[in-house]
Amino acid sequence: MTIRFDNQVAIVTGAGNGLGKSHALELAKLGAKVVVNDFGGARDGSGGSSEAAEQVVAEIKAAGGDAIANGADVSDMAQVEAMVKQVMDTWGRIDVLINNAGILRDKSFVKMTQDDWDKVVAVHLTGSEICSKAVWPIMREQGYGRIVMTSSASGLYGNFGQANYSSAKLAVVGLMNTLSLEGEKYNIKINCIAPTAATRMTEDLMPPKVLAMLEPKEITPAVLFLASNEAPTHRILLAGAGCYAMVRIMESEGV
Ligand code: ADP
Repeated sequence: MTIRFDNQVAIVTGAGNGLGKSHALELAKLGAKVVVNDFGGARDGSGGSSEAAEQVVAEIKAAGGDAIANGADVSDMAQVEAMVKQVMDTWGRIDVLINNAGILRDKSFVKMTQDDWDKVVAVHLTGSEICSKAVWPIMREQGYGRIVMTSSASGLYGNFGQANYSSAKLAVVGLMNTLSLEGEKYNIKINCIAPTAATRMTEDLMPPKVLAMLEPKEITPAVLFLASNEAPTHRILLAGAGCYAMVRIMESEGV
């Protein structure tokens, strides 16, 4: 089975860094025109620049691919609608959406402020809903669409200091479950990955020997399969192996 994205347009949110950047670069290599969305590089969500996205676009173009940068905040409907308009004006279709943008506001539950909760839920959960909603009518009209949600091992198993993040990450599984039912008759397939760990997001939390096992290059192929024409009809949640064991290793090492 060869996966290609020729003549397809793919939006990857939060693609200025880490996993999203890896997905964007590989999609471009496989023929997709890529919308590299990122609203800034700050991990706590205080973004406001598309500089990281522009660098990824330059990298794609240097390798002979086609891409545009976009600085929309995925949790803002008006900005996302403007992004979708930019894409439709440029390329006239949207085949793939990878909901990847994310922030962290890790704190023990007793110290977590309501703002820490609201911001994380707004980006991970509401952002995935807003972006999916904005592309939905286009995908319906085309009779083709692929949406990949990014959950997390933290959503499935929990993690210290991540009540906000793990709640939002499990909720995107629920969003996938219902959208996949509603999308089926329009050939819109929605699937989900739950990486064991990401890159920059968790680098402070992980011992180096655990981090080494969890690079984006291990995760991107699974995402590309779910984003492709070959994606399974019945929704699938690909979870990183050994997620629970990893949390226990971290705990035993006092991380
Ligand atoms: P990971 O390690 O999971 O890949 P990163 O922090 O490296 O995480 O990447 C997440 C990306 O998402 C960052 O580049 C960040 O700027 C981007 N991002 C965060 N919040 C938003 C948002 N509201 N809209 C668009 N991009 C966002």
